[in-house]
Formats: sequence, C-alpha cells, structure tokens
Amino acid sequence: METECVSCAGTLLIPADSYQGEIVSCPGCATELEIHSTHPLELAIAPEPEEDWGE
Ligand SMILES: [Zn+2]
Repeated sequence: METECVSCAGTLLIPADSYQGEIVSCPGCATELEIHSTHPLELAIAPEPEEDWGE
C-alpha cells in the first residue's frame, strides 16, 4: 500500500500485512505514524512515547 506522509507529504509505503495500531516511521522525515485504519488507509502522527518523568 502506498500513501502520503501526513507530516511531509512524501510517499510512504505501508506493508500489505500492516495492522491497525501499527507504528510506521516515515523515511523522509522520521515522523512516527500510527495506522488508525487499514480500510481505508488512515494514518495519524503517533503520540510521543511517554517519558519517565521520575515521579
Ligand atoms: Zn514524512
């Protein structure tokens, strides 16, 4: 599957066996994108991994 990066609008190749919730990173801008839906293909910028704030 091919789609457009929501961040840099570059071409993004999504493996055909990708699943909802998978995180892919854009080779163009390194933004991490989460697959929200595969039919139709919808991507959103993944939330930043939670840091350990040392609580
Ligand atoms: Zn990108």
